[in-house]
Amino acid sequence: MSKRVVECNICGEPLAAATDEELSRRVHGHLETEHEEADRDEEHIRKMVATEAYDAGDA
Ligand SMILES: [Zn+2]
Repeated sequence: MSKRVVECNICGEPLAAATDEELSRRVHGHLETEHEEADRDEEHIRKMVATEAYDAGDA
């Protein structure tokens, strides 16, 4: 079992989800609640997930 993880590029909090699709939604929700001023453009988030997300195994 592995999951996709990406760290918030504003506060560094690691966000995890089963798929990139779900991870994008997690990032969007995180930005919405934690960083109201942040860019929440769909394309921007997808790009962030595509370039920065990595696999993390469940230990
Ligand atoms: Zn954050």
